[in-house]
Amino acid sequence: MTATTMTPAQLTRFEARLRAERADAEQRLAEFDDAMTEVRIARTDATADDEHDPEGPTMTQEWSQRTAVLADVRAELADIEHALARIADGTYGFCTNCGSRITVARLDARPTAELCIDCARHVR
Ligand SMILES: [Zn+2]
Repeated sequence: MTATTMTPAQLTRFEARLRAERADAEQRLAEFDDAMTEVRIARTDATADDEHDPEGPTMTQEWSQRTAVLADVRAELADIEHALARIADGTYGFCTNCGSRITVARLDARPTAELCIDCARHVR
């Protein structure tokens, strides 16, 4: 890793942005957890009352949609945590595959990017 490092000002900017995104993701996660609890209770009631409750399939669909969204938010949060950890240990902004600098433009578009544009193209 001999490429020039990001300026401290840029790093601080990305760190602030990642922290803001983490707070936002945690907020959404908390909201989903509440919503999931409500759906879970509603589902339990429906099953207990009537096996053929017309709302049953709707509940199940809502349930799986929420589960999918929740998984997305959790994955996003994990990516943000990884990025913040890389800022802490000084490896942020370097491709985890080849060690090249990831362009600031790419990080602006996707602050959690772990691969440079070339590696991202080859890996996918
Ligand atoms: Zn790379």
